[in-house]
Amino acid sequence: MKDDKFLVSAVCPHCGANLEVSLEEEAGICKFCGSPFVTKNAIGYERKKKNLFLKIVDRIFSEDNIGMLGLFLGMILMLVVSILVLVGFEKAKENEQDRLQTAYNEAYEYYQEGEYDKALMKAEEIYMDSDYGDFIGKLEWSSKRKKLIRMIEKAKKQQEELVRQTE
Ligand SMILES: [Zn+2]
Repeated sequence: MKDDKFLVSAVCPHCGANLEVSLEEEAGICKFCGSPFVTKNAIGYERKKKNLFLKIVDRIFSEDNIGMLGLFLGMILMLVVSILVLVGFEKAKENEQDRLQTAYNEAYEYYQEGEYDKALMKAEEIYMDSDYGDFIGKLEWSSKRKKLIRMIEKAKKQQEELVRQTE
């Protein structure tokens, strides 16, 4: 047994656990993490910890608080991840909507110019190829696409009729 009057409080330089070390021993082994330490380093570490900042940090990370702290950090992390997912989703939705609108406009332009084959090809692109369909009015876009195609095909047929009559 070591003499109690030589025991002083120290901190394991490896894991930070509070230790009682004997001044009689030059070195010891941390009973928490099993790392060897030099006694004067472990005591020096304890002294360094006495400044206010480290005391506060020590208080926050005390065993009483660590559960709450973990919960709090977990909640913040979840919030950040949720926001990122939402922003990404909104952006993807926007891109998909832009793509459909652009295809629609270009198809309509070709239609007005009488370029019916090109118009039909463009109209085919007004198609949902993403998972966002349900969120940007899949049915609405699908019916817009059908109406446009019907309109172009009708005009194309009339044009062909006209060509046949003049031949
Ligand atoms: Zn240790």
